[in-house]
Amino acid sequence: MGKKVIIIGSGFSALTAACYLAKSGCEVNVFEKNEQVGGRASVFRKDGYSFDMGPSWYWMPDVFEKFFKDFGYSSSDFYNLVRLDPAYRVYFDSEKIDIQSGVENIISTFIQIDPSCENALRKFLNQAEENYKIAIQNLVYQPGFSITELITVQTALRLPLFVSTISEQVKKITQNPHLQSILEFPVLFLGAKPSQTPAFYNFMNHADFGLGTWYPEGGMGKVVEAMVSIANKYKVNFHTDTCVEEVLSYDEVAVGISTNKGNYYADIIVSGADYAHTDKLLGKNANYKETYWENKTFAPSSILYYVGFKGKAEHVLHHNLFFDTDFEKHSESIYDTKIFPEKPLFYANFPSLSDNTLAPEGHSTAFFLIPVAPGLYDTQKLHDTYFDSIVKRLKKHCGLDIKDKIEFKKSFGIRDFESRYNSCKGNAYGLANTLLQTSILRPKIRNKNLYNFFYTGQLTVPGPGVPPAIISGKIVSDFILKKYL
Ligand SMILES: Cc1cc2nc3c(=O)[nH]c(=O)nc-3n(C[C@H](O)[C@H](O)[C@H](O)COP(=O)(O)OP(=O)(O)OC[C@H]3O[C@@H](n4cnc5c(N)ncnc54)[C@H](O)[C@@H]3O)c2cc1C
Repeated sequence: MGKKVIIIGSGFSALTAACYLAKSGCEVNVFEKNEQVGGRASVFRKDGYSFDMGPSWYWMPDVFEKFFKDFGYSSSDFYNLVRLDPAYRVYFDSEKIDIQSGVENIISTFIQIDPSCENALRKFLNQAEENYKIAIQNLVYQPGFSITELITVQTALRLPLFVSTISEQVKKITQNPHLQSILEFPVLFLGAKPSQTPAFYNFMNHADFGLGTWYPEGGMGKVVEAMVSIANKYKVNFHTDTCVEEVLSYDEVAVGISTNKGNYYADIIVSGADYAHTDKLLGKNANYKETYWENKTFAPSSILYYVGFKGKAEHVLHHNLFFDTDFEKHSESIYDTKIFPEKPLFYANFPSLSDNTLAPEGHSTAFFLIPVAPGLYDTQKLHDTYFDSIVKRLKKHCGLDIKDKIEFKKSFGIRDFESRYNSCKGNAYGLANTLLQTSILRPKIRNKNLYNFFYTGQLTVPGPGVPPAIISGKIVSDFILKKYL
């Protein structure tokens, strides 16, 4: 019989770690406080509508394929992956810009708006592609223990890209503010302001323009289902509705967990729950004091809306960004002043345009997201006020009037992130990837007091997002298998 492993939480990082460890012969038990597995990628179903509660952009398909390949599969064994074309639309106050599928198409769009940007844009995108290859091959799968992990000839040559920012790079490509916003958009997935994100992370622009925006038919929940079926093949046991209340230890050894359903024991424990929460479960064995988190830059929280309505989502695309208000002011409200934005930007997702299984016939689903500062106190009144503004702007910019067609609406905010996911300050997607929170400067995957306790997920290496969470689960399981098994 292999080693017994307990995994706390069931987000993408935890599911990944569960699959690799179980495949290597460990007896794995996953404990999830909520009613279903998948973490932030939970699925909410109501009145014939189905909503992905969190991630909706399927980027970096190579990372998903690498995971499936390690188990002898490809994504197509579990779900049909469709490349969206156009990938997405961006609404500004005075115009809308569609980002088509394929780099050359996108470059043509840019040149039509700013003919002078072509050379600099091509150079930027070539560099972004090279950085992507370097990141995937040499950097993002590293455990984040030592600076030596980062030093290769290729990274040394790119040192200036770690001390300059994405914003600085983008300003050299074009002076057009709309094109600048589009080029800065991909790094928002890393949770920080583009003016605080190292230029090396322009590899996200390759993920966006080069690798494309995909949709797994049935929604992101299908990816969770695929991972669960692999886990089931290796006899992973899932315990939902089971909240871990304490990590039990003896001397320098983690011995088990105490949950609302009793105690469980294991040789190795991995937590994929939010890092600060995990540290609370560890008491005196925590890796970091509570004050450590006070000085960190978290990725934004969000106010979300799940909406079912009559009719078709006309005049919009599957993914739509509403940058029709001041981008700078909104990001200041998230990262500097930490107040609710007066005129928020928002993201509108209409997945039933690509998938008729998500809503009853003749009906549509919508998901809206407003990024806001973590740690604020949100109220239903605020949610409703923001929602009214979204409905008005949909009508104004797209001619889509859903006001009297809404059959179902539910909002989800900062305090819901705290209560549903035990998220520190209600962050939606972890700890931002700023220069001082990158790679070896991120919270460590290994507990310093308990030799057999580990962390995975979006707050440790490599960072926020579904592909990084999958990579994080691989990193921690590789480390455990190499060192201890
Ligand atoms: C609204 C939203 C939109 C997003 N959009 C995208 C996107 O489009 N594309 C993309 O790539 N990424 C996106 N992300 C980010 C992405 O979803 C996350 O980075 C990723 O899913 C995080 O996975 P994880 O494994 O780190 O943690 P989580 O998914 O947070 O999993 C942690 C789990 O631990 C559980 N848990 C916590 N405490 C306990 C306890 N005491 N006992 C038992 N279980 C516990 C939680 O319930 C949760 O299920 C989005 C996130 C959100 C919230």
